[in-house]
Amino acid sequence: MTPTPSEALLTVEGAIAKTCKIARRKVDEVTLVAVSKMHAAEKIEPLLEAGHRHFGENRVQEAQGKWPALKERFPDVQLHLIGSLQSNKAEDAARLFDCIHSLDRKSLVKALPKAFEKAGRQVPCFVQVDVGEEPQKGGCPIPELPDLLESARERDIPLTGLMCIPPADIEPAPFFALLDKLAREHGLDGRSMGMSSDYETAIMLGATHVRVGSALFGERG
Ligand SMILES: *Cc1c(COP(=O)(O)O)cnc(C)c1O
Repeated sequence: MTPTPSEALLTVEGAIAKTCKIARRKVDEVTLVAVSKMHAAEKIEPLLEAGHRHFGENRVQEAQGKWPALKERFPDVQLHLIGSLQSNKAEDAARLFDCIHSLDRKSLVKALPKAFEKAGRQVPCFVQVDVGEEPQKGGCPIPELPDLLESARERDIPLTGLMCIPPADIEPAPFFALLDKLAREHGLDGRSMGMSSDYETAIMLGATHVRVGSALFGERG
């Protein structure tokens, strides 16, 4: 039988704890972001009731439809934007999300400070890096990373770390190791990496935020 999201949450949390132990890391160094994109509020609620608070969505508009009501009932929810962000949605994103994982280009570095000001809040950002040279997935090309980080810092965007989506169907470990190295070189603590199929590997290689969808909610429609 397919596990319910609450049962799956216990399984994933158990696997995270076990991996942290093997990696000699503290379990509170790793945040499980439950990726609820394309799942209805009724599926999300059991996890909220079980006390889980970090959730990820990849589209601003979809999140606007689901989350304001849920946030009213669970005000300490932390909502993570994990999908690519268009500059014209930056203000909406700044109002709704508590963390942005997809800062990946100069136009967003320009748009975000204005959006933060209008929204009246600063939202911590991960800079997404194109570790696999797959521009269609978004992410800043590695050679352009120093320049992008510098301009984000000049504009006082709160940077928490780096994020990546490695190429599908090949061993992700070298890409996670690369993201970890880049984060260290640039003095950033956060590493948003690892999804349902590879979050344990990502934790072994330093992930601070794993983004897990299907292992919790099942396959998306
Ligand atoms: C959908 C998505 C995930 C979750 O993927 P699963 O394989 O379902 O765990 C993680 N990160 C990003 C950027 C996504 O779009």
